[in-house]
Amino acid sequence: MLVVMRAQATEEEVRAVCQKIESLGYRAHSIPGAQRTAIGITGNKGEVDPGALDEMPGVQEVIRVSKPYKLVSRDTKPDNTIIKFSDSHGNGSAVTIGGKDLVVMAGPCGIESREQAFAIAERVARAGAQFFRGGAYKPRTSPYSFQGMGEDGLKIMAEVRDRFGLLIVTEAVDYESLDLVDKYADMIQIGARNMQNFSLLKRAGRARKPVLLKRGISATLEEFLMAAEYIMSEGNYNIVLCERGVRTFADHTRNTLDLSVVPAVQRLSHLPIIVDPSHGTGKRNKVTPLSRAAVAVGADGLIIEVHHDPDRALSDGMQSLYPDQFDALMVQVRQIAAVLGRSIPVSSHVPAATTISAD
Ligand code: PEP
Ligand code: MN
Repeated sequence: MLVVMRAQATEEEVRAVCQKIESLGYRAHSIPGAQRTAIGITGNKGEVDPGALDEMPGVQEVIRVSKPYKLVSRDTKPDNTIIKFSDSHGNGSAVTIGGKDLVVMAGPCGIESREQAFAIAERVARAGAQFFRGGAYKPRTSPYSFQGMGEDGLKIMAEVRDRFGLLIVTEAVDYESLDLVDKYADMIQIGARNMQNFSLLKRAGRARKPVLLKRGISATLEEFLMAAEYIMSEGNYNIVLCERGVRTFADHTRNTLDLSVVPAVQRLSHLPIIVDPSHGTGKRNKVTPLSRAAVAVGADGLIIEVHHDPDRALSDGMQSLYPDQFDALMVQVRQIAAVLGRSIPVSSHVPAATTISAD
């Protein structure tokens, strides 16, 4: 951060700004120039709030000079990034992320069978989701837990796309799965546990498909943006960030969903950011309230776990919504989105036979 003083600023004014910076806990470096004095600020780990300095006498402007991330920064690109997905049914209603419309991704934690995937996809498509989520490669804490169906799971997801017109997002955990996800899916998910797997990030940066980058379990905002910078530095500019909760002392939820990161990201970066209240809370009864809050705080979308039979889910049943609950969530978040002048587009893809609701 650099404070640029006016040409006519007095020595007292310069000194007062330096003292203010020191009183905020940073170091001030007064750099007199031919025309005016600039004051550099060091010792700050994140962004310095320029508010306190902006209004001081003699200050012309407060500008940010050195950020570790460059390409993902708003300084580099002031306009929001909007990612467009081509419509797999070719009817012209492309899905976008980062614009006025909100995106909703929904589906099970893991793909367990064709029947399971189709049963859930039918319901989330009908409710208005644009993406179907589901892991074919599951990074589990225990090696004895369900690890996912692998390529067979990806093939099932590709069938879901054809049948329901949903776009597909699914996680890649290593080079081999990343190449397969790039081939079968519409979006490559990098999970929280791999947010700082730098070689995997670079590989995702060389992939063709957009990347959904989830925040690491204890990642700071800067580490999160630096992870995105890794991907972008390899030439893939289509990145969506995802807040999915961080680990704190709080134990009433699985993770602590940090909704304040949404406006913090939007201030620093042009990239879209969505929220995952499923992993963020780990509890079914908290997913809908936090989804409402995420939309209200300005997130560009949601990613939600939904299961038609959560008691028998092979992973994350406790945090998976029943399809009826997902229907209700969609009704509520649509209303909140409208308050902000945003909307969730109504999908035109759902096959006719599946639009008839029996309940
Ligand atoms: C997931 O979305 O399936 C998942 C494993 O999430 P995370 O990486 O955020 O834990
Ligand atoms: Mn999960």
